[in-house]
Amino acid sequence: MTHAVIIGAGLGGLACALFLARRGHEVDLFERDGDDPPADPPSAFASWTRRGLPQARQGHGFLGLSSEVLKTEAPDVLDRLVEAGASVIDMTNHPLPQVKLLAVRRLVYEAVLRQAVAAETRVRIHRGATVDGLIAEPGSSPPRVIGLRTAAGQDCRGDLVIDASGRWTKGAEWLAAVGARPWRDDVSETPFVYVTRHYRLKAGEVFPVPLVASSVDLSYGGATTFKGDDGAFAMAFLTSTFDPYRGALTKADRFHAVMEAIPAMAAWTSIATPINEPLALGRIDNRLRSLVDGEGPVASGYVLLGDAAMHTNPVFARGVSLAYAQARQLAATIEQQPADPLGYAVAFEAWTREHINVWYPGSVQADLSKAAQMARSCRGEDAPAGPMAAVGNAMWALAINDPDLARRWARLNHLLDPPAKLFGDPMVMSRVQPYVAGHQGLVPDDALSRGDFEAIVTA
Ligand SMILES: Cc1cc2nc3c(=O)[nH]c(=O)nc-3n(C[C@H](O)[C@H](O)[C@H](O)COP(=O)(O)OP(=O)(O)OC[C@H]3O[C@@H](n4cnc5c(N)ncnc54)[C@H](O)[C@@H]3O)c2cc1C
Repeated sequence: MTHAVIIGAGLGGLACALFLARRGHEVDLFERDGDDPPADPPSAFASWTRRGLPQARQGHGFLGLSSEVLKTEAPDVLDRLVEAGASVIDMTNHPLPQVKLLAVRRLVYEAVLRQAVAAETRVRIHRGATVDGLIAEPGSSPPRVIGLRTAAGQDCRGDLVIDASGRWTKGAEWLAAVGARPWRDDVSETPFVYVTRHYRLKAGEVFPVPLVASSVDLSYGGATTFKGDDGAFAMAFLTSTFDPYRGALTKADRFHAVMEAIPAMAAWTSIATPINEPLALGRIDNRLRSLVDGEGPVASGYVLLGDAAMHTNPVFARGVSLAYAQARQLAATIEQQPADPLGYAVAFEAWTREHINVWYPGSVQADLSKAAQMARSCRGEDAPAGPMAAVGNAMWALAINDPDLARRWARLNHLLDPPAKLFGDPMVMSRVQPYVAGHQGLVPDDALSRGDFEAIVTA
């Protein structure tokens, strides 16, 4: 039995606590937010405050990998999610077959998972407990972390401290305070801002397509829907800090008018009514942190999990799945930690590099080219899609008439296979490259022209 101390009860920290407890380990879980979720999960969207989680009411889609991990570690949670209104979408009628997506609002999902964790006798949830430092073994070098301290002065010691405090973790400061070398920090800033609003189907209406989402790529942004539970869904508009009109999107009537003017989105707005105001969220960076540098681990007894370890543009919807995969790996290996903390730090880092970090380079490249396209479009210049988007477009187009490629493309998009498995296949690339070459430099015909967009937001 190992004693884990987890910082942060977001989806990553909760999943980790659950998987550890069910394998017989003891867990102390610290969460800065003080409110428990409501007893009735479907009401969480309306009533659970969650100040510590800025993305709480942004649109979320839950990819195949997250459901696959839950199925092996906690199948009862999948059942409870369905009871709370989530739909498990089996896309067998779609060109991308056999992929299970979970459609449910983020806070409803989190309330269900939190209840499952709270029911575990081996987990102690400390809510309203902000962590503000680590405790290291005196004289250890690199520092061996043996616990944490809260802002209220509570100490908690354990075999392993798991930092699941999200993309804005203060772990770098905490480690510096116990004498660690700086961790490796690879960051690629993006200008992206998401503006999201939730809607609910009017009585008697049904969702327009059997998919979890509809997406429309625009040269100056993009629009996406995320199907949720209880007839609710999110509509998100991607804009950027260099778009002078981004502020107007947070006005309820302008947001609605923009969505209505995009035909694929109008199919959703026409059958629904809004249930909240548009919410904007920026600081959407790509970031990869590593606790091992050229000299070895910068610390032991401490690991990064979920968004704290790596996060990419939420448009790819990868965060929860990758956090779950890491949580499963931790739960399966944590017993090795107490006897060999330095060895464990190296081994966990190596696993993370192989299974999680492989998604980082492609996300950075895709975002850099999308940001460049959006900047050109906002300046009124021709704005062709970048090379990464062209590869994606080629895959979607080729997959329609090729069931094997469709299956492999779906497995990649749902993180069930690593990127190299598809993009490293010469047969696939020999088909993709001519398509990309044939579409290079083409300026997309926006479903809502930039001129019409500006007219709507300034009306
Ligand atoms: C706009 C947006 C949209 C997204 N959409 C998707 C999507 O569609 N699909 C998907 O899979 N992922 C999506 N993500 C990512 C997803 O939200 C995260 O990957 C997921 O929540 C797992 O993150 P986490 O548990 O590591 O951290 P978080 O969920 O951010 O949770 C961190 C927790 O730590 C707590 N905390 C922070 N600091 C402290 C402290 N010092 N002491 C105690 N507690 C602390 C916070 O209050 C919070 O509860 C999106 C993210 C954003 C920003």
